[in-house]
Amino acid sequence: MITLLLILIIRALKFKPHEEKQVTIEKIDFDKDKAVKDFQDIIRCKTVSYRDTSREDDAEFEKIEKLIKERFPNIIKNSTFERVGRRGLLYRIKGKSSANPSVLMSHFDVVPVNEDLWSHDAFDAEIREGEVWGRGTLDTKITLNGALQGVEHHLKNGFVPKDDIYLAFSGEEETSGTSALDIVDLFIERGVDPKFVLDEGGAVVSGVFPGVSRPCAAVGIAEKGMFNLKYSVKSTGGHASTPPPETPIGILSNACAKIEKNPLPLFLSKPTQKTFDTMARHSNFAYRLIFANLWLFKGIIDKIAKKTGGQMNAMLRTTVAFTQMEGSKAMNVLPPEAYMLSNQRVIPGSSIAETVEQIKEIVNDDRIEYEVIAPSEPSRVSKTDCEGYQALTETISQVYTDAIVAPYLMTACSDSRHYSKLSDKVYRFSPMQLTSDELKAIHGNDEKISVENVVKCAEFYIRLVEKL
Ligand SMILES: [Zn+2]
Repeated sequence: MITLLLILIIRALKFKPHEEKQVTIEKIDFDKDKAVKDFQDIIRCKTVSYRDTSREDDAEFEKIEKLIKERFPNIIKNSTFERVGRRGLLYRIKGKSSANPSVLMSHFDVVPVNEDLWSHDAFDAEIREGEVWGRGTLDTKITLNGALQGVEHHLKNGFVPKDDIYLAFSGEEETSGTSALDIVDLFIERGVDPKFVLDEGGAVVSGVFPGVSRPCAAVGIAEKGMFNLKYSVKSTGGHASTPPPETPIGILSNACAKIEKNPLPLFLSKPTQKTFDTMARHSNFAYRLIFANLWLFKGIIDKIAKKTGGQMNAMLRTTVAFTQMEGSKAMNVLPPEAYMLSNQRVIPGSSIAETVEQIKEIVNDDRIEYEVIAPSEPSRVSKTDCEGYQALTETISQVYTDAIVAPYLMTACSDSRHYSKLSDKVYRFSPMQLTSDELKAIHGNDEKISVENVVKCAEFYIRLVEKL
């Protein structure tokens, strides 16, 4: 017993932070007013995307394209431009070589707003108490503006990048449209093999990892897969006055309860292993004791995650969330058919087929029929030992000097998942420093971002672009 305790403690003591590379930070001078002004006008384009595309205002989408043309003349002059698919915009800036290009992604569509619940006009982009208000400020016109500012700044000064840089923007990310996929297909057709792809994703946040006080710059190196599962049960229907012992809704409810009581197994995917290995080393001794000895404490972490749910749990297993259920149209009629739906987020290392099998096994009821809807497998896990990732982490350290850069598994979906078929050097990071409250405003009411963040985001891209 004492030997075991000793081993645990020694392992925890040895579990020290990885050495952080010292970065040199040269002063840069750039047009901060322009960065903010352009951002405000980009927000003012009401590029709201809808699944029912007939509700979209094409004029607003044209407006943003025109705005880019006007405000970023050096990008226009030094690039070839093409529209791809329904709402894809692709700019190629020629570098000294075309062998190892980089792709800076973003999307310029935003989710709809409920104007009644906003304190101000959702598209006025006015600055109030140091913050720019508006739909799309966080998600993700800040990175759209940042990428444009970064490239424009250098081109204005006669810079020619080492390799080609593509600006790949989609106008239908929020509706899972195909613009980004169309751009990927075009790249494949043309044999474009990027050394580096950057899309929206993790941000610089504090208080996300237990026992760590420094902010964490979370770089998504993979994202979970997703699919919906429909469970249907048929019956002969009939009147509610003479019910059978079990109704379709009863059968489905039983299945639902079984799944919620039996979460899918914990799986330490590569990205999450890397998060733990980076962040836990900066944590206090108690947590280091646990994370340095996961072989012993995995069970405890599993129990805590199951109990709390949320982000931690989502990083550790494939999750199942029940979202819809429908039975009879009338209150006193037994449904001839009832169904329910669950939304799964699949952990890298597993697959949709495996998840369906696991669910069927837990439910263990062959009266239920299953149908997989809108499947998308987990992404590839990107490398962290390549030039692009180095450039990214170095840039983060130059701009967010206090942050610990940590790879992580993104639990939400982004357009960058389409790049899995092209590259294993795809990273998901949004250069902005946010509190957890600010994070919650994504897709919510009163979305806004500090002017300081807008300026820092531009600085981030300026520092990044010179390395590409
Ligand atoms: Zn987004």
